Amino acid sequence: MLRAYKYRIYPTDEQKVLFAKTFGCCRFVYNWALNLKITAYKERKETLGNVYLTNLMKSELKVEHEWLSEVNSQSLQSSLRNLDTAYTNFFRNTKAVGFPRFKSRKDKQSFLCPQHCRVDFEKGTITIPKAKDIPAVLHRRFKGTVKTVTISMTPSERYFASVLVDASMQGMKPSEPMRDTTVGIDLGIKSLAVCSDGRTFANPKNLQRSLDRLKLLQKRLSHKQKGSANRNKARIRVARLQEHIANSRKNSLHKITHALTHDSQVRTICMEDLNVKGMQRNHHLAQAVGDASFGMFLTLLEYKCSWYGVNLIKIDRFAPSSKTCGKCGYVYKELNLSERSWTCPECGTHHDRDFNAACNIKEFGLKALPTERGKVKPVDCPLVDDRPRVLKSNGRKKQEKRGGIGISEAAKSLV
Ligand SMILES: [Zn+2]
Repeated sequence: MLRAYKYRIYPTDEQKVLFAKTFGCCRFVYNWALNLKITAYKERKETLGNVYLTNLMKSELKVEHEWLSEVNSQSLQSSLRNLDTAYTNFFRNTKAVGFPRFKSRKDKQSFLCPQHCRVDFEKGTITIPKAKDIPAVLHRRFKGTVKTVTISMTPSERYFASVLVDASMQGMKPSEPMRDTTVGIDLGIKSLAVCSDGRTFANPKNLQRSLDRLKLLQKRLSHKQKGSANRNKARIRVARLQEHIANSRKNSLHKITHALTHDSQVRTICMEDLNVKGMQRNHHLAQAVGDASFGMFLTLLEYKCSWYGVNLIKIDRFAPSSKTCGKCGYVYKELNLSERSWTCPECGTHHDRDFNAACNIKEFGLKALPTERGKVKPVDCPLVDDRPRVLKSNGRKKQEKRGGIGISEAAKSLV
């Protein structure tokens, strides 16, 4: 199994110069190839392949621009490979993945070294071609062979090395889903996650907390003269705060997903299959949804579940998880977006909105399990959705009229 370990590195001035050159060359090659691909398609409806571009780079581009030979040629080739992957991803799902964009020197910079990399835990250094013994903080050891090392620099000029390791460790096999060890999770903005076993994880609202400061810094930046040293300082201040927000976000999500996947009482997790993009189309929710970063939560949870042998069951996003009474199954259609708790008119049970939803999600997940042993499939919700489904053809218009596109139950409970 491949695992990546990311370390902060502190390159020497000499190494920084080499990195700056390599970032620039990789970016140049990437943009050159992207431009060629776009024009070839526009003018001749031709698709340029990776092999063709690599050969063209070697035979023409490198002759034309001699400085390209100063850096690791394998890094240049891998940036072409990255472009190829970007294209493949785009064509695999043109709705969710954007068309490859030109790289800018203002964004995060990176290059990849596919061979001859070494991590020395004794000395605390990382070695890549042309740069020996880069000082690094190796806060975590790994076992296995180093596949590739990616050097990156953030806009605030911090350097990192991401080491891809082929670890001998195998993912654990998930056990049979059972009721006692199943937990349902309802994601929300008030509390980031509410579990059917009663646990709640608070939403740290990292962006919300730093928003005033961010606005101030961005305003200061906009008032500085372009190209001045002070503008650069202001830019770094903004970048640092943005990185701080992103880091605290990652930190809390890692903690929550770790807690969920390392609980011996939890072997199966049920959650809604969220439509994050759809939720963000609602302007009132967009910022809060982005700040809560459900998408990242799901990504982290998915891979951790596969590592630690936890079943992950996603239920239909249109399942009425908030509106259904967990006790008698009555569907309370009039449930308002602002109602945090409600009383079932059938059986009189008083429900906390999120907790009830989490319990229902667990039930939906368990019901949707196939009767066959050892097979977990993606799920059709057993309960009927009362809202009209949107047709694909003229979907967007209709949805906008209805005020909210594919907004799931979870999204509604956020308000
Ligand atoms: Zn009821």
